[in-house]
Amino acid sequence: MRYSFVCKKSAESEKIKAQIIEKIKGSYDQKNPKVVFSIGGDGTVLDAVRKYLQIIDDIYIVAINTGSLGFYTEFLPENVDELINTLTEKKTFNSYPLLEIEANGEKEYALNEVTLSVHHHLFKGSVFIDEIFLMDVRANGICISTPSGSTAYNKSIGGAIMDTSVKAFQLALIAPFQTANQKMISPIVLSLGQEITIVPQNKYLDLTFDRVFISSENIAEIKVRLTNKTVKFLKNKGIKFAKRVNEKFIGKE
Ligand code: NAP
Ligand code: MN
Repeated sequence: MRYSFVCKKSAESEKIKAQIIEKIKGSYDQKNPKVVFSIGGDGTVLDAVRKYLQIIDDIYIVAINTGSLGFYTEFLPENVDELINTLTEKKTFNSYPLLEIEANGEKEYALNEVTLSVHHHLFKGSVFIDEIFLMDVRANGICISTPSGSTAYNKSIGGAIMDTSVKAFQLALIAPFQTANQKMISPIVLSLGQEITIVPQNKYLDLTFDRVFISSENIAEIKVRLTNKTVKFLKNKGIKFAKRVNEKFIGKE
């Protein structure tokens, strides 16, 4: 098995990497792996996806948590020995779709979300769904997230948490500016096959795709859709969605 690593810079993460190298049968192949071990937190997972975007359909990720929040990271350091021993057996995956973002003829992808915002000013623009006008927006920005990204930024701005098996995506406003004639807009959930178009009025825009940040100028329009492209994560003994949400975000009375 050809394998590779994306590893957080921490002593514990490096230790787990060394443990895997010692135990695993196969060859280290940074360019063309079949399995990518992501060792760290969700941020590390996002880096791994970004790094292997070109071959994302052909690989799967084994996400091992070393002490962060870790919503994507189902495996713990104590699972590593068993994990390596069973890696060649029949496997099941969680497959999470990516967003595709098109702006000025270029395409980007995101596993969590894309955001559009403007530093120190209101973002102003119009939103269309399937080319039909929905609303004008005045807000700090707009966040469009996937189901697996719904527990990240989206959740902090009042978006709904979505079960990761739902094939849909969600638009939520970041700190909307409300005036008497502007209605409060709830987050909106759209389905696979639909397309959001945003026509910004601002000359300068800040865009993020997961961990990536870019400043851009004169963007005429931005199109966002959910793709059939997915990221496959090796499943640990089936931790249920509700349990994960409870453990990470709610806790017990
Ligand atoms: P970060 O600044 O280190 O922190 C973001 C936090 O969100 C981390 O605790 C991270 O987990 C967690 N996280 C990431 N993806 C998640 C998911 N799908 N579900 C639940 N929690 C998740 O940033 P980062 O680690 O590079 O992650 C980038 C993400 O940060 C962005 O994609 C965006 O969603 C999020 N973000 C959130 C806010 C906000 O909530 N106000 C603002 C900016 C960005 P780990 O600790 O395991 O890394
Ligand atoms: Mn992080």
